[in-house]
Amino acid sequence: MACIEVDNIFKFYEDVEAVKGISFEVEESEIFGLLGPNGAGKSTIIRMLLDFIKPEKGSISLFGGRFSEKTKQLVGYLPEERGLYDNITVLDNLVYLASLKGIATKNARWNAIELLERIGLREKANVKVSALSRGMRQLTQLCVTLAHNPKLLILDEPFAGLDPTNRELVRRIILEEREKGKTIILSTHMMNEVEEVCDRALMINHGRRVLYGKVPDIKESYASHCVFVEFEGQFPKLKGLEKSNVKKNSAELFLRVDVTSQDILRQLVEGNVIVNRFDVKELSLNEIFIKVVEAEKWIKQ
Ligand code: ADP
Repeated sequence: MACIEVDNIFKFYEDVEAVKGISFEVEESEIFGLLGPNGAGKSTIIRMLLDFIKPEKGSISLFGGRFSEKTKQLVGYLPEERGLYDNITVLDNLVYLASLKGIATKNARWNAIELLERIGLREKANVKVSALSRGMRQLTQLCVTLAHNPKLLILDEPFAGLDPTNRELVRRIILEEREKGKTIILSTHMMNEVEEVCDRALMINHGRRVLYGKVPDIKESYASHCVFVEFEGQFPKLKGLEKSNVKKNSAELFLRVDVTSQDILRQLVEGNVIVNRFDVKELSLNEIFIKVVEAEKWIKQ
């Protein structure tokens, strides 16, 4: 069942067309990647989902209806600009911010301690937020997002400022939340960080949709677009390449969308090189994104 339905939304900021005709659905209990470079329009879409701003055109439905006070309780939002109180302790922040979501103090304290334990910050409970590192603040903010046990989590750049260990920790927590049946929107420009955790994704650029669908399907449809070759002899000039990185005995070849790995293999054989290895390499989501955006530019020219 769809938890979110977005139909053809537009948003302009004076002369900036931030979101242009975006449609997508988020299914219950999935991890949905909202992906694109900085400035693509991800935060603007999130602000519209949360009803902070209204779309100029189009419609948004959350849990089968319009955004309401009830919806608010069902959503946990991790904003890009973090909102913690510097001069009170981590625990007091968590208890106070949970109370704003209607959680009684006693329960909020228990929950908070449990969450801090889970995220490895239990010993920082009584430390003022001002004394935390950037990464620790981020983890604390994630605890705030989870504190009222929301059904839908909207996480805007959850990996920003985290070291590899903490990125892994946040990834694990996101996966655990999905296991509990939560629906998660993961908005980030770090596509390679999330391609293994996202079930489906919407990739956007300059406010427009670039790709949308199940992540394995997206990857599958671009699977033959990069090949790695080990060879002996004079590497021939090949037709149908977008980019290549040819070394003495190996080459990484990026194929044009209309060219198959078979076409390349045939040209190599005809070019009289000895092929010792020919691997079809899987492109990362980031590489696929760049490929599609480049192809669109090429079509427009
Ligand atoms: P992302 O989250 O993908 O980095 P944003 O949604 O923040 O992208 O921004 C999309 C575009 O809208 C950018 O060109 C940005 O400069 C512009 N923008 C975002 N917020 C505002 C605003 N409040 N006023 C004017 N322009 C804005």
